[in-house]
Amino acid sequence: MKFWFKMSLVLFLLLVPFCVQGISKEPAISVGLAQGVSSCAIRSNNMTFYDASGKQVNMKGTVTVKSGGRASVIVGGKSLALPVTVRSKGLLYLNDKPYRGVFVLVASSGSFTVVNELPLEDYLKGVLKMEVNPSWPAEVLRAQAITARTYALAEKGRHGSAGFDLCATDHCIPYRGVNAEDPKLTHAIESTRGMVLLYQGKPARTFFHSDSGGWTTDVQSVWGADIPYLKPVQEPFQYQSPYSSWSFKISGDELGRRLSQAGINVGSVFEIIPVKIGPGDRVEMVEVVGTKGRKTIKSHELRMALGAKELKSTVFSLDGDGGTTRRDVLAASEDFIDESQSDSATLISLTQEGAFTSEELMDMLLHPEKRGEYLKKALARRGKSTAKTSKKSQKKDPKLLWPQWDTSADDEVKTRGVRGTTFLFQGKGWGHGVGMSQWGAKAMAENGWPAEKIVRYYYPGTELRKLY
Ligand SMILES: [Zn+2]
Repeated sequence: MKFWFKMSLVLFLLLVPFCVQGISKEPAISVGLAQGVSSCAIRSNNMTFYDASGKQVNMKGTVTVKSGGRASVIVGGKSLALPVTVRSKGLLYLNDKPYRGVFVLVASSGSFTVVNELPLEDYLKGVLKMEVNPSWPAEVLRAQAITARTYALAEKGRHGSAGFDLCATDHCIPYRGVNAEDPKLTHAIESTRGMVLLYQGKPARTFFHSDSGGWTTDVQSVWGADIPYLKPVQEPFQYQSPYSSWSFKISGDELGRRLSQAGINVGSVFEIIPVKIGPGDRVEMVEVVGTKGRKTIKSHELRMALGAKELKSTVFSLDGDGGTTRRDVLAASEDFIDESQSDSATLISLTQEGAFTSEELMDMLLHPEKRGEYLKKALARRGKSTAKTSKKSQKKDPKLLWPQWDTSADDEVKTRGVRGTTFLFQGKGWGHGVGMSQWGAKAMAENGWPAEKIVRYYYPGTELRKLY
């Protein structure tokens, strides 16, 4: 008996990894279509509304659903308690857009959210078109079906607190229901039905993007997590995509503004220093130096702050139009002091008092001829008497012209940076660079690779399994 007990325990432990989170048949997925709305139009030839109290209402045609407050909606003059499930034998339309499955109306602080609940494979039919071109080779479409299916399962429940699994935007995966369906994509989904990439028995986090630019990147350099199957891999085939070469020009002022909106306050940026370069010349970290300070950030953060559609990837080289470094600032301010001792003393004391904005200081350093003009302006602003009384704080320390400069930094490091009042990014690739590159996968498919080989290449160490 003891032997059989041990054997059954061993068998049990052997079988555990194959029961992937209990997925042995096709799961359903719920997608938030319209979040926190006060009204919407639902249409079908014949549909039934089932409310939380057991009430049923049959409706035909277009029905306006309005929030009734207190976790209820008004449908055809009747008050229904949320959540309300809407079922139809045909397609259901939300604001004239068709969807498979059912709608579930859930409460959302004073309003309601329309959730589309449907089988996972039907969900994928409304997803793939936003990721790949249906005219691409069949194997890249199949690879995308596998990665999207796996991604959806791994991320399922992400919006659990709002009453659904995934949203319909690129926060999760863009989803557009029946309008996005295409026969070639449906075939790719059906021919990979239930196929999922697993890591340690769970659906892997199969991030994907448009074009890696030659090498994918370590997920750690983007989002910070250490995931063994999301490490850099080199694309085995060279390819051309619409993103093989792009450029993006931005002024240091605008760069500083966008960084500040993302919570990175360094003032107007005049220098960018690549700090860490990863495989494939991908810039992983940069130091941004501005009029208010300096900060080392991930290039991904820089990309998000500047705009992911403008700074298309983190594989870029950088050029600036010169500008200034601390060394230049010191030299410039020394020159200035030599020019006119009395004016410089007043200027320094005004600077100490904070009479100039950082932009004005920058402008003065770049355009020495404007200093007199700025001096007059500042004196007019503060009154000549203030300038006189502050003479006691006169110092010839040129650092004062740059009050918030980090003096501990060493100049040699900064000379590796690119300086300017305007920066030009020239790069290749599009997207975060983690996991499968769609254009790279297309090149593999064109070179005869099947979908199974493509996904194993991008997510090494994962296991491809058919769950149902
Ligand atoms: Zn989302």
